Amino acid sequence: MTLFNVRMRAAQGGAHEEGGIHISGGERLVDRAELTDAVSALVDRALRHEAGDADFINVTIDRIEQHQVVSIEALPIRTEYATDAEEGRLAARRLLESSGVDASVAAFGVTLLANGAAPGGRVMRGAAIVGALEAMRLEPDRARGVRVAGIDWERQTLDTWRALMTADGLARPRVWEALALASKVVAQPDVVAELCWSDDPSYVTGYVASQLLGYVRIPHLKQRGDALGGRIFFVRQGVDIADLIHRLEVQPAWIDRLP
Ligand code: AMP
Repeated sequence: MTLFNVRMRAAQGGAHEEGGIHISGGERLVDRAELTDAVSALVDRALRHEAGDADFINVTIDRIEQHQVVSIEALPIRTEYATDAEEGRLAARRLLESSGVDASVAAFGVTLLANGAAPGGRVMRGAAIVGALEAMRLEPDRARGVRVAGIDWERQTLDTWRALMTADGLARPRVWEALALASKVVAQPDVVAELCWSDDPSYVTGYVASQLLGYVRIPHLKQRGDALGGRIFFVRQGVDIADLIHRLEVQPAWIDRLP
């Protein structure tokens, strides 16, 4: 089967390379029948994003063959208890520590996202990479970061997952897209854990993901109205960064198994 890797990025004030501010981005891996709808949904997302009006939208489509696609299992999902951002951030630090991230690095990570991890205290377009045992940033570009792409659900697996999650109210695109991304990220042997919360001012839920704990949703990781957010991948010592980035950004993978 032939698949298409679709990537969208949108900015305001010109292209990212010309100093435009990042508005939104998205990635899909779809077959021919779904391609047109996928492109249209991504453009729609770019135009509706709360971060602002996009005046630059770039959509890239690459055709790939199915045998090039790596199979990944969805992480199990659960929700941690937290009533406000302070509690949520404490829970995130604790979950990161239980996953193998050093306590001081976990605290560093939470502060980094809270202050805006890109230069000037802005939101990065992708994720930061931080050593799990040493609070050191390893991504080559602190504004762009690492953008995970080439990840999506195999159609039937997603349908089954949605049916299982409906009762919990989790069968929403925002949840299954983030779950797919996190499942690809922590499937890399060099990644110890991931921390994420959205830059969308109205979406305050985030997560910690790891092979040890699965995908743990945290209902509050920031206050409503806060336009900062981001992702951090915590990695083992001695990791080959270029190889990891290639696997996350380029290697096509899809979720075709449930836990
Ligand atoms: P979102 O959950 O889409 O609001 O994204 C939250 C943050 O995660 C963004 O501000 C980016 O810093 C980062 N991010 C979004 N998409 C990706 C991606 N595909 N790969 C890596 N980081 C991403």
